[in-house]
This record gives sequence, C-alpha cells and structure tokens, in this order.
Amino acid sequence: MPMAATKRDYYEVLGIGRDASLDEIKKAYRQLALKYHPDRNPGDDAAPKRFKEAAEAYEVLSDPDKRQRYDRYGHAGLNGAAVHDFRSAEDIMSAFGDIFGSGLFGDLFGNRRRGPRPGPDLLLKLELDLLEAARGTTRTIEVNRQDFCNECQGAGARKGTVATTCNYCGGRGQIVQTRGFFQVATTCPACGGEGARITDPCPKCRGAGRVPTTVHLQVDIPPGVESGMWLQQRNQGELGDLGAPRGNLRVQVLVKKHPLFERRRNDLYCQVPISFAQAALGAEIDVPTLDGPDRIEIPRGSQSGDVLRIRGRGMPDINGRGRGDQLVEIVVETPRHLTPRQEELLREFAEIEHEQVSPRRKSFLEKIRDYFTEEAEPDDSITS
Ligand SMILES: [Zn+2]
Ligand SMILES: [Zn+2]
Repeated sequence: MPMAATKRDYYEVLGIGRDASLDEIKKAYRQLALKYHPDRNPGDDAAPKRFKEAAEAYEVLSDPDKRQRYDRYGHAGLNGAAVHDFRSAEDIMSAFGDIFGSGLFGDLFGNRRRGPRPGPDLLLKLELDLLEAARGTTRTIEVNRQDFCNECQGAGARKGTVATTCNYCGGRGQIVQTRGFFQVATTCPACGGEGARITDPCPKCRGAGRVPTTVHLQVDIPPGVESGMWLQQRNQGELGDLGAPRGNLRVQVLVKKHPLFERRRNDLYCQVPISFAQAALGAEIDVPTLDGPDRIEIPRGSQSGDVLRIRGRGMPDINGRGRGDQLVEIVVETPRHLTPRQEELLREFAEIEHEQVSPRRKSFLEKIRDYFTEEAEPDDSITS
C-alpha cells in the first residue's frame, strides 16, 4: 500500500469540485484518460502515472460508498475497501473500458481488452478469536492453486516439441455450426479453443500446461479488524493465461464469538454479575478486560441494567484512531440458597423494610391502586 501522505487529493486529480455530479466525474476522467493514455504519450514517464492516478480517483469518486468514506476520512477511509491496484493500461481499460463506449474511444482501447486474461480471484475465510482481532496477528495460510508446469513452461507440449495447428478448427479455436436459421459458434472440442493441438503432450502435466500446487502465504491482520472484512493480496490468486497476472487472493476475516465480550463498533460490551448486597452497599470488583483484570467501583445503590464505562479498554480502531471503551452492564443476582443465619438477617431486614419504600416502588404501588380503583365492576374471583 502506498503511503497515504504521498497521495494527491482525488478531486484535485480530476480537476473537479467536491460537489461534482457523477456525470461531471465521468467526463473529467474520460478527458484525462485520453490525454494521458500511455499509447498516446510514448516516452513520457509522467503520463502513465497521471493515467493511473486518474483511474484511482475515478474508481473512488464514482462509487457512492467509497466517495462518502473518502469525503469523511480522506485516503485513510479507504483502508479495507476493495480498490483495484492498477498495474497497466490494460488493467484500467478492463475495469472502466465501458465508460469510453464505442467510436473513437472504443477503437483506441477496444482491441487491447482481448489478450491474455488474468486469473480468477481466490476467496478464503480465516477464523480469528477476539484477542487476535484486537492485537492484530500474522497467519500462515495454505493456498491450493495452479502453477505453470515447469517441465513444459506452461505450453503443454513435450519438451523439445511444439504444438501444431489444430486440424479440426483450422486454428480458429471455434467451430461454426448451422442450427436452423442460426449460426452457432462453439469452442473447438479438439483443441479446447486454443487453436493449436498438442500431438506429443508433456508427461508431467499431461498437456494441460499447469499443475496443482500448494503454497503457504502470510496474511497480516491489522489490529481492530472487524468480522466480515476482506483483506486482499494482489496477484496471489489463481493462475491466468500465459503472460497475464494471477487473480487476487481475498481473505475474509471471521471473528469467533467471545464468551464474555461482544463487540459494538469499537466498544466491547460485557455483563458482570454482582450480589444484591454489593449493589446496595457499593463495592470494588475486578472485571475482565482485553488487557487483564481491571478494578472498578460499583456505586452504592446500583441497579441491574446500569452500565459503567471503562474508557479506552475497547477494541483498537482499524484506522488507528485510538481505542473504544468497555461497557460493563451490572446484573444484580438474587441469592437462591440462604444459610440459616443469612435468612434470619434477611427476615429482620424485611421487617423494617416497609419503613422506607423506594420512589420507584412507591410509584408502582400507586399505579396498581389506580388500576384497581378504576375498575367499575369489582371482580369476585380476585378476592379469595
Ligand atoms: Zn481446434
Ligand atoms: Zn507440462
């Protein structure tokens, strides 16, 4: 990834205002692409750079979601977003060729789109636990993909021999058949569309030109990564045509459910049970955090559902903007088993409890009284 600081502002690159419409963005990009296309500027080292820069700006500003992220956070806002890494004019034309349409632009670029095709992307899922997601980590993953056969260099023909023109299709790679009124072109079954036929196949790949391999690749997982995010490794995907780049490797991160913590944006939420005596009298308790136990103070008179906030103990922000908070929800537990002594004390407590009724219970009791007195007909079944 290039350093964000060295990147120019995308609006400046396209020479448009920040409120430019999609049409204005397209128009500006089309003009720049024509001006700086490397084919039109042979020997000019700056042209390919400008051409690529314009394509990047266009990719971001023509996509409402990416544009919004860019407007809000600048180049850093695009971390984690799927954006192309343009390596050549061909890459750019295959991504955006359609906005040039036919005619002059089509003729200029159209024939460059055919040619060796890059390989397909490979998609993988990677499971992490919350602590790994918080700290960031490096994982080695096993990727099964194809590689060119090193015996025949991908040609498929036995070393020292060459492929001959396919007799079946005459080298065109297609067979045209007439079906009723239609002429239907199908891929030549003899050569598989290659137009050439291998009479003496390579013994290692049996003429395929490619062999399955297993590679081990390192994936760097940034701290704060969120479940569902995609990390991309360019040109580490499946093999393409001879002379074309590999597809990309795209890894989706899935963060496993944690027994204690639940992520809410960058905050971590957890529930902490306390006894009703601790709730009434207040207490100091240890709560688990990502950094180990942290002592917090439970205020006197805490209720179930009260939420205490421990600042800066949440997940790190993936874009490096600090850490979220930890939210601790209090759950007051009513004891299920009492020793005789506890029961004795509680009964004593209950006897004097009516002397001070809490405001909340008082209002509840009043509501009940109102409810029953509003009933027109007293119901006999309630009184027993
Ligand atoms: Zn053929
Ligand atoms: Zn081979």
